[in-house]
Order: sequence, then structure tokens, then C-alpha cells
Amino acid sequence: MPDITIVEVSPRDGLQNESTILSTDAKVELITRLVDAGARRIEAVSFAHPRLVPTMADAEAVMERVPRRDGVSYAGLILNRRGLDRAVAAGVDEVNVVVCVSDTFSGRNQNVTADEAMRMAGDVVDAARSRGLFTTITLATAFGCPFEGEIDPARVADFARRSVDAGAQELCLADTVGVGAPNQVQDLTARTRDLVGAPDGGGPALRFHFHNTRNTGFANASTAVAEGVDVLDASAGGIGGCPFAPKATGNIATDDLVYMLERMGRRTGIDLPALLPTADFLGEQLGRRVPALLPRAGTFP
Ligand code: ZN
Repeated sequence: MPDITIVEVSPRDGLQNESTILSTDAKVELITRLVDAGARRIEAVSFAHPRLVPTMADAEAVMERVPRRDGVSYAGLILNRRGLDRAVAAGVDEVNVVVCVSDTFSGRNQNVTADEAMRMAGDVVDAARSRGLFTTITLATAFGCPFEGEIDPARVADFARRSVDAGAQELCLADTVGVGAPNQVQDLTARTRDLVGAPDGGGPALRFHFHNTRNTGFANASTAVAEGVDVLDASAGGIGGCPFAPKATGNIATDDLVYMLERMGRRTGIDLPALLPTADFLGEQLGRRVPALLPRAGTFP
């Protein structure tokens, strides 16, 4: 068992925000490479409307061809009941239901207020759990919003409580636009500590989602681990971007995160030598060098 579970989000958050659309073949190859390197939780697709997220339009075709192996769990991102129906039909193991804490971001992203999104998420979580799916609620823009600026951490804690009350089995706090700093990680962890599971079990898990847009992503991840968090999102090669920050890098890179954690004595279950060539594969597919540094520098010792 790994000490830290990395949820590999490159096929979803990574590719979703790239301007180049990969073929279904290439997406399946990426996912297969990740599984071969030891990834066991993979956010493979999004079931947002294809008109809104054209990079994920082939979600069903991808899910039909992903390697099915013992212990590998595939997640789909969903926003509503329609997305859940598609996710169930496509055979995902988990769903990640997104609620944007910022009203403005929520309005632009989903055309609903944050409160409306939270109520919808409650319905979706109920329905997903009754169908036997593991359910996560991700609170997007928990560290700041590109439109509203600072987000009150008390508001994030309130949405966290409502997520747990709604029955989510995991709570993910997302720095959607990569503005967060380690003190916010400490603060949000403290504010949600009574909601999430103690090490002895019980209660949902706490998970963080960091982008490295302003180079604070790894400091944030290190802080989360020091606070006892053991589920982190990351993206192979650090691919992805942000529609609101041109030329921004994407999620924290799995390659660099695994290196850091393993050097800290934490096990991730990811085999770095097996993972590293994926950066070149992604670079070829995307037509540019990916942001991860470990594939350039190599492992040590
Ligand atoms: Zn993201």
C-alpha cells in the first residue's frame, strides 16, 4: 500500500486544457502507460457537455478501451445528473462532482450559482452512491478565483461541510488557477479537520488538487503531506493549462511529485523509470516540451 495516493489527472485535467486535441488512441496509450507505471486512481475523462469541453468529447470511446486491471479505479468528472448517467453507462468506478465555490466562476463554468451547484451535487452524490460508485466532491477555486480574487476560507469550510453532509466519500480542495500558498493549505486543512477521516478511519478522505501556475504547487503539496493529507492530484509531465492564464503550466507534475515524496521516504506506488518516458510521449503528442523537470534532469541517486 502506498503512503500517498496520487490521483493521476493528466488524461482529464491535463488534456482538457491543452489546445491540441489528442486522438482516442493517444489518450488510451497515455492511460495504459500510467497504469503500467503503477497509477491506481486515474481521472480518465470528463462527462461535461462536448460543446463546452470539446477535448473530452470522446469520453465514452476512451472508457471503452482503457485497460481493466485489478486495483485500478477510473474516475470521470461530472457536473450534473446527465453526466452521471453517461459516467455509469461508460463504466467508471468513481465520479468526481465539481462545485465552484466562487459564484462568478460557477456561473461562467456551469451557469449556476455556487449554492445551486452544491444542491445539484447533493442529488448527484446520492444517485451515484446508490449505483455503487465512489464519490468525490471537488471544491474548485477554493484558494482564489480569477474573477473574484480572494475566496473567504470560512466559505470554503462551509461548502466542505455541505459536501460531507451530502454524502461525498472524499473531499477535494482545488487550487483551480494556481494561486495558493502553503499557509492556505494549513488553514484549509485545519478548518476541515473535524469533517474528514481521522487516521483510524471513518469520515471522508481529504484530497488536494494543485496547479503549479505560480510555482507554489510543490510547496503546497509538501505542506499538505506534512499536515497528514495522503491523497494528491497530479498530472504526468505537468501538462495542462488554464483558460484564464495564458501560458500557465498545468497541474503539479506527477514525475516531480513522486520524486519529492519518495526522497521524503513516502511510498507512492509509482515506478519513476517506467513513468518518465511518458513525458516524451506527451511532448510529441502536444508538439511542445512538457513542464515536468525530472524527465530532463533524471532521477537521483
Ligand atoms: Zn485543475
